[in-house]
Amino acid sequence: MQLATVIENRVKASDLLEDFKKHPVIQGLIKGGESVEYSAHLIPVTGLKVLPLLAKDGILITGDAAGLVLGTGLILEGANFAMASGIAAAETVIKAREKGNYTQATLGHYEELLRKGFVLKELQTFKKAPAFLENKRIYTTYPEMACDMAMKIFENDGTLRKGTFKTLRDSMKGRISMWQLFADALRAKESL
Ligand SMILES: Cc1cc2nc3c(=O)[nH]c(=O)nc-3n(C[C@H](O)[C@H](O)[C@H](O)COP(=O)(O)OP(=O)(O)OC[C@H]3O[C@@H](n4cnc5c(N)ncnc54)[C@H](O)[C@@H]3O)c2cc1C
Repeated sequence: MQLATVIENRVKASDLLEDFKKHPVIQGLIKGGESVEYSAHLIPVTGLKVLPLLAKDGILITGDAAGLVLGTGLILEGANFAMASGIAAAETVIKAREKGNYTQATLGHYEELLRKGFVLKELQTFKKAPAFLENKRIYTTYPEMACDMAMKIFENDGTLRKGTFKTLRDSMKGRISMWQLFADALRAKESL
């Protein structure tokens, strides 16, 4: 869940966990269990709107602290970005030590390494994904439509089936307009 949504809806992290535990699939798995401890952790998926602060005189920022996390809705990756940025930071420090110079100019090598590797390249590719994923329809309208369409396509109660496009139109009724669907599809193409 996005932090803005949590704040907007005044949701507590503990309530999210309780709701999750009430899900019928989860209930069976934790039956008889007891919560001893819980923790919540924010994942800084911000998208690469602007280059994060990576280096200043005497400082290098890596991993989550620099916002080096990739979230596309399909994948969430931060561990590999933290490791790759850690390696790049270590290589930069070795270079800076050789020069005896830890100014931002020397530490700029860190950004060069991140640009050459997958870290900044992949974040650049998916830079619009976090903003796109704020679209509430992705979590409400589209799953509802998909389930409704699946019911209409796979359920055989003896009534005549309609063509697939007509079925789609029926599932869209009261949920979303064709223009909205096109607009979302276009944004998905640009963002994911
Ligand atoms: C629920 C969840 C699921 C995830 N799933 C995936 C996944 O499937 N794949 C993936 O690649 N990534 C995943 N991630 C993201 C991944 O865990 C992080 O991106 C990654 O751990 C970041 O590494 P890091 O070293 O930058 O930060 P962290 O792992 O957060 O390490 C920072 C450390 O610094 C310590 N610290 C903080 N403040 C101080 C202080 N003042 N003094 C001393 N120590 C301090 C913290 O205790 C912590 O141990 C997930 C994250 C979460 C929360």
